[in-house]
Amino acid sequence: MYKKISVAISGGADSDDMLDICWMCDNDGKVVYVWCDTGLEYQATKDHLKYLEKKYGIEIIRTKAIKPIPLSCREYGQPFLSKRVADYISRLQSHGFDFRDGGYNELAKQYPKAKGALKWWCNEFGEGSSFNIQRNKWLKEFMIANPPTFKISDKCCKYAKKDVMKKYIKENPVDLHMVGVRKAEGGQRATAYKSCFDQNIDGHDNYRPLFWYKDEDKDAYEKARNIIHSKCYTEYGLKRTGCAGCPFGKDFEMELEIIEKNEPKLFKAVNNIFGDSYAYTRKYKKFCEEMDVKYGSYAAYLSQKCE
Ligand code: SF4
Repeated sequence: MYKKISVAISGGADSDDMLDICWMCDNDGKVVYVWCDTGLEYQATKDHLKYLEKKYGIEIIRTKAIKPIPLSCREYGQPFLSKRVADYISRLQSHGFDFRDGGYNELAKQYPKAKGALKWWCNEFGEGSSFNIQRNKWLKEFMIANPPTFKISDKCCKYAKKDVMKKYIKENPVDLHMVGVRKAEGGQRATAYKSCFDQNIDGHDNYRPLFWYKDEDKDAYEKARNIIHSKCYTEYGLKRTGCAGCPFGKDFEMELEIIEKNEPKLFKAVNNIFGDSYAYTRKYKKFCEEMDVKYGSYAAYLSQKCE
């Protein structure tokens, strides 16, 4: 029997459903609700937290980022494309790599401390591996032609999100921690887990009550329980919430349009923080289009290269 249970609240749609489930089951008042303020949150999310507190008669504990996103981006670098890509680039940058072409053995001799990231750069993880740079078409060719002139990193997630909840749990021990991850949402976050439950990880159990919910299950639950989501969904038309304008988001351009229209101050802030990454991503996308026209396709280019 658990004595203290923490529930990670994000203000997003899945989190709303999880909160509702936990609130209904919490007959003994063992649950604490915790939200991490990354420093780059929609006003609509902050308003929604107040709505949830009022609706359920609960307190949502606000925790601060260990390093807010703006600070972390300044110190370590900006997110670019995906967590994996940003991590490898950051490792190469930290060893002064000049983003040139070359064989793995030759480069590894010159940068012996960057061997792992060089394996990514040189496609040494094996044919078709998702760990190779080839997984992102034209990225290597683009970076050789346009080496990044700003720091790239995935660290803001660590200091503004991941480690924040860990720190909270360390300071306020719980037996069970819950998050609103769903397998059907896909992506690295969902595929990191095999099931809805892990026993005794970091001194507590972890439960993901929505893990097996498909989109239609979620819709049915929300209808039955009259769940109302934040204005991010109902007025802005966003499909997901979270850090505003994160460059890892595939639809960040669409998100930026929405932010500019609905939260102009936030629009200014995200452009100040992630501006280099947005510009570099746009340049990369344009490069992809041009190379596709020139070579027909990336696959055609690769087979030509092998001949
Ligand atoms: S989701 Fe994006 S902006 Fe938010 S902490 Fe992670 S990398 Fe940074």
